[in-house]
Amino acid sequence: MTDVAKNIQALSATLPPDVKLVAVSKTKPVDLIQQAYDAGQRCFGENKAQELADKFPQLPNDIEWHFIGHLQTNKVKYIAPFVHTVHSIDSLKLLSEVNKRAQQNERTIHCLLQFHIADESTKFGLNLEEAQELLASAGFAALQNIRITGVMGMATFTDNQAQVTQEFSRLKSIFDSLKTSHFASDEAFSNISMGMSGDYELAIAAGSNLIRVGSALFGARNIT
Ligand SMILES: *Cc1c(COP(=O)(O)O)cnc(C)c1O
Repeated sequence: MTDVAKNIQALSATLPPDVKLVAVSKTKPVDLIQQAYDAGQRCFGENKAQELADKFPQLPNDIEWHFIGHLQTNKVKYIAPFVHTVHSIDSLKLLSEVNKRAQQNERTIHCLLQFHIADESTKFGLNLEEAQELLASAGFAALQNIRITGVMGMATFTDNQAQVTQEFSRLKSIFDSLKTSHFASDEAFSNISMGMSGDYELAIAAGSNLIRVGSALFGARNIT
């Protein structure tokens, strides 16, 4: 068995049944992704539109592709024909572009609202008020080809576990609050995307049900 296959199987075996793994394959070659696929993994995440569009035709077409990086509106068209979920929605403008491109492809694209929960100014994302404003807007109400399926966030890159747990708990309470205010009768609004190689256990303990793990599966990246 390859290292990647072993890592996929070992990690999957430890996950609670309601937690889904997005295998983050950014910068990794398609043969390693194929190894993970052969070990049973079907859900993969990439953070560059062009890289994802290049890899897509080289890999099995039952892969569920998640886009996890910052997404520029002019790049949406490259991934709209096939992407399953976009984790990084941080404006109505971006969401409207995803909707437009989904419509052109006669599809519905799942979208997560990305929240700024970290103590770092460099990480993208909304706050709760901005999300509520977006969800209450007429522009949002008109979108027919996207579905908001949950929330996403990244904790601060720190060894301080208490801080990371506190940030993940904030995202969980943002999810709960939006669930009550806007999605009470919408079963699809169910994903809390948080947790990476270094912090996914803390994330799961805080309520994550969608973890995005790269280096723990595929090894360290040379380029970031
Ligand atoms: C790269 C990346 C991950 C995975 O990070 P690892 O530390 O390699 O597990 C998760 N989420 C996002 C948004 C990323 O860009």
